[in-house]
Amino acid sequence: MQSDLEKLELLDKRHLWHPFTPMQEWITQEHHPMMLVSGNGAWLIDAQGNRYLDGNSSIWTNIHGHNHPAINQAIGRQLQLVAHTSFLGFSNPPAVRLAEKLVRLIDDSRLTRVFYSDDGSTGIEVAIKMTGQYFNQNGKPQKTNFAAFQNAYHGDTLGASSLGGIAQFHERFARYQFPVERLIAAEDLVRLEGEKTAAIIIEPLVQGAAGMRIWPAGMLKRLREWCDQHDAFLIFDEVMTGFGRTGKMFAFQHEEVVPDFLVLAKGLTGGYLPLAATITSERIFRGFLGAAEQMRTFFYGHSYAGNALGCAAALASLELFESEDIFAKLPQKIEHLSRGLARLGRSRWVRDIRQCGMIAGIEVGRPGGASFDPRERIGARICVAVRKYQLLTRPIFDTIVFMPPLCVSNAEIDLGLEAIERGIEEVCGGQG
Ligand code: PLP
Repeated sequence: MQSDLEKLELLDKRHLWHPFTPMQEWITQEHHPMMLVSGNGAWLIDAQGNRYLDGNSSIWTNIHGHNHPAINQAIGRQLQLVAHTSFLGFSNPPAVRLAEKLVRLIDDSRLTRVFYSDDGSTGIEVAIKMTGQYFNQNGKPQKTNFAAFQNAYHGDTLGASSLGGIAQFHERFARYQFPVERLIAAEDLVRLEGEKTAAIIIEPLVQGAAGMRIWPAGMLKRLREWCDQHDAFLIFDEVMTGFGRTGKMFAFQHEEVVPDFLVLAKGLTGGYLPLAATITSERIFRGFLGAAEQMRTFFYGHSYAGNALGCAAALASLELFESEDIFAKLPQKIEHLSRGLARLGRSRWVRDIRQCGMIAGIEVGRPGGASFDPRERIGARICVAVRKYQLLTRPIFDTIVFMPPLCVSNAEIDLGLEAIERGIEEVCGGQG
């Protein structure tokens, strides 16, 4: 007799196709997909009852932990009313309240308009298309160029992936993507044609999918100055960095540089439901006003825009920042993480450690500094090995990501880092 779990495994292998997952290995008999069935705080539980620390916050989404009663209740209350109604020409109370709350949190008179979509990629698409349509219908149709950084990651839909600069992810789709001016550092701004540049996009403070690469201080200010000089928009992709990860609510608040577009997703709902917000200025909003027959309307929208359950979850998540006093607790957790990372850095296999607030990337390589052969998939193997030590995470090539939910305790941070240390020793130790 097959157990329920065995049946699920078989059906998964027969019918599913997982994102960013080598499926040939997945469907082999020897592979047993980890079936996650429940969660509590920073922990996830699989179908066999094993508990794991959620070391990458379920792909960078979870903020206050799983199964948080306040977020559960908020979703439940909204569910008693209605789950979803169209936002195209209609409104709903949680969507309105959330917009007001986000604008209040950002606390800058320049960012006042919230446009909802579904996830990080669509939030970026919104910023791209708003920029394009804005300049097109406001007297600067020549402004069509976008500039983005090497190793940037802004999502997988075609517009967002055009902006991406990670060869392994993006190059294979090059012929379907629009051309982008590629920057490496702020010094490259001189190469841009100011007249034609519509916008520059950056992941502020830290490039996530690049392997948690930290920007030099002052980067945002230099971009802001260039954009102001050339009337180009500055887009901050805070899909990964938003909602406390860096130690402040938003990464841009560390440098006090305000963008023309702020894109939020992932942690917006506390990691409960898909929802994105692209937040922009009154100036850009006004560029779309006019009599309906002038067709200046923003021609863009998704079926689930302004989803009431997502907005209710987001409101509850934002309230938790206050009621649980998250920003008072974060500095000592960040400090604790730094100390643990410093210990981990003594391993001969650790080539570099990069930390920004509660976000850490631990890059492994050969002693002496050489990289591992990518075909060895060392990072992926380490992330499988650490499961034995109760940690779940995912690598970016040979960088192990550690960014647990913000509710994590010091003891849980220690457990996660010890698991990584053991995993590294076990996998790399065999490399000779
Ligand atoms: N932007 C950044 C900085 C990201 O890290 C990601 C996802 O990792 C995205 C955009 C895309 O978000 P999503 O996967 O929700 O479409």
